[in-house]
Amino acid sequence: MECIEVKTKENRERPRLIVVVPCYNEEAVLPITSKLFLDELNAMIADGKIAEDSRILFVNDGSKDQTWPIITGLSEQDTHFAGISQSRNRGHQNAVLAGLMEAKDRCDITISIDCDGQDDMHAMEEMVDAYRGGADIVYGVRDNRDSDSWFKRTTAQGFYKFLNKMGAEVVYNHADYRLVSSQVLDAFSDFKEVNLFLRGMFPLVGFKSACVYYTRNARMADESHYPLKKMIGLAADGITSLSNKPIQIITNVGIGVSLIGFVGVLWALIEALLGHTVGGWASLTCIVCFLGGIQLLSLGVIGEYVGKTYLETKHRPRYIISACTGNWHSEK
Ligand code: UDP
Ligand code: MG
Repeated sequence: MECIEVKTKENRERPRLIVVVPCYNEEAVLPITSKLFLDELNAMIADGKIAEDSRILFVNDGSKDQTWPIITGLSEQDTHFAGISQSRNRGHQNAVLAGLMEAKDRCDITISIDCDGQDDMHAMEEMVDAYRGGADIVYGVRDNRDSDSWFKRTTAQGFYKFLNKMGAEVVYNHADYRLVSSQVLDAFSDFKEVNLFLRGMFPLVGFKSACVYYTRNARMADESHYPLKKMIGLAADGITSLSNKPIQIITNVGIGVSLIGFVGVLWALIEALLGHTVGGWASLTCIVCFLGGIQLLSLGVIGEYVGKTYLETKHRPRYIISACTGNWHSEK
């Protein structure tokens, strides 16, 4: 077994923090939340909890609006702001990964947080305290879902329960607001999959973890960029990248249906021998429909896994950075 080298540069007393903030078409939100992020960072620096050269790293995820010019403008106003830009829109999970991987060798800890101000920024300080107390991963956990619509609340809760039933280990009500030390990120960089479900992958890395509870608010401006279609995609990714259970379920259903089918065949033979076979159209149609449905569903689920394997074998890059702000480049 390979050992991960313990970092000697690790600084638990006054760590260098890089806050990783994915942004996609957030021109309405960034001018508001960037100030709040900076205030929070400055407060922690003033309290001596993090290093003076800590940063807020915006990851532009191929936005089509003014997001990138806003980020470059911010980095010119204050050196605590920096930015990198993905070559195109790759989705939230890839944007977070890009930020974490670019940050890991320049800091002691990272905190990933959405840019819309929904996650309570004050929880960052508690996360840093937990790190200083010895935790290497600190999960931000929502203490309630009052700010969500009924639909989002119900589907999200069902999703977590379903994931856990399927054998995937996820922290209940934790999304992607978390502190991760650079030592954990070093270990994490060996998880090479391109289908990302970060909240389910970090528990697999191990290390000492803690939870910090916070209240999630409504978006400060604009609307969610996570429509139902993307949410379903993330849920499917979560299940199929963390668990083989759906395939096992299909096998079990297959065994059950085959047994019933066997009884059906016996029944049909006996009926035929007794000379009762008239019509039979309805029962035949039912059986064909039932089996057809099960078979198609099963093929679909297996296809999901085959498709994933196909994408993984390509070893395509998980993110491509096309630009970064001047200060981020010169620090390297
Ligand atoms: N986001 C991203 N790429 C995308 C979609 C969203 O980087 O393709 C970012 C977005 O800018 C925000 C975060 O991911 O910082 C969460 O998105 P959003 O608030 O729209 O989702 P919700 O909070 O409704 O789940
Ligand atoms: Mg949001």
